[in-house]
Amino acid sequence: MNVTLLKPYGFCKGVYNVINYINEIVAKHPNENIYCIGQLVHNEIVMKKLLSLNIKVLTGDKSKLIDSINKGVVIFSAHGTDEKIVQKAKEKGLIVYDAACPFVKQELNLIKNKVLGDNDVIYIGVKNHDESNAALAISNKIHFVGTIDDVNNLEITNKNIVVINQTTLSILDLKEIHNKIKEKFPSATFIDEICNSTRLRQEFFYKNKDKFDGVIIVGDKNSNNTNALKNVAEKLNYNVIMIDNYENIDLKWLERKNNILLASGTSTPNEVVQDICEKIKNR
Ligand code: SF4
Repeated sequence: MNVTLLKPYGFCKGVYNVINYINEIVAKHPNENIYCIGQLVHNEIVMKKLLSLNIKVLTGDKSKLIDSINKGVVIFSAHGTDEKIVQKAKEKGLIVYDAACPFVKQELNLIKNKVLGDNDVIYIGVKNHDESNAALAISNKIHFVGTIDDVNNLEITNKNIVVINQTTLSILDLKEIHNKIKEKFPSATFIDEICNSTRLRQEFFYKNKDKFDGVIIVGDKNSNNTNALKNVAEKLNYNVIMIDNYENIDLKWLERKNNILLASGTSTPNEVVQDICEKIKNR
């Protein structure tokens, strides 16, 4: 059995930087309670490591979470946060760190600049994802779209429409939604904000169609870019399974394969991917 490891694999630069940032914050504040507002990174293995550093991970309504903290350090997750909530934490006197990935910040700033002008923004994202929530909180001139049906339901009278998207979407889903928006709003302009780490992995499937009889995607089911990777592989008719460790592999599925492609989400630790790769090769 041949196993090809899709590169890049494991952590993207954004996740790698966030983890280093957290370690610096922990070292800098040894005597403070440290709270992470939202799942810092969508991967359970990474989150377990953070818990071992005595960081308390709080999930739920971010504004209410800030209400409940009176002292200490708060870290906002990599996926972006409504600026008003970050401001509220600062005004309460909490020590605030915003760990949003630079690509997410870039997307949110772009939206801010566009709606400050004469534009309405159509935002394509995943409903209730932190990144979408942060984008939608910027202005009521932002119209959310998660599916083609949402496009059908849009009512925008402004002719100046800019279309922007979440960084970790499926390139194929995005293309379908863009086409539908073009039909309905011919004057709209499009800015594609899918980050490179997400795009490169998905494009590999595109460029290497028919070379593999099975694809294993390693990642957490809560990770949007991992789900998007699976979405693209399935739409291109690959035979796909998604796992978060070697023990999850259906061995009967594996036995019938000759050429396996091993891919991973951007929040999957490198050593987990390497371990799975070695174990499959050694079988
Ligand atoms: S997947 Fe992209 S947007 Fe998300 S953390 Fe990584 S580099 Fe940043």
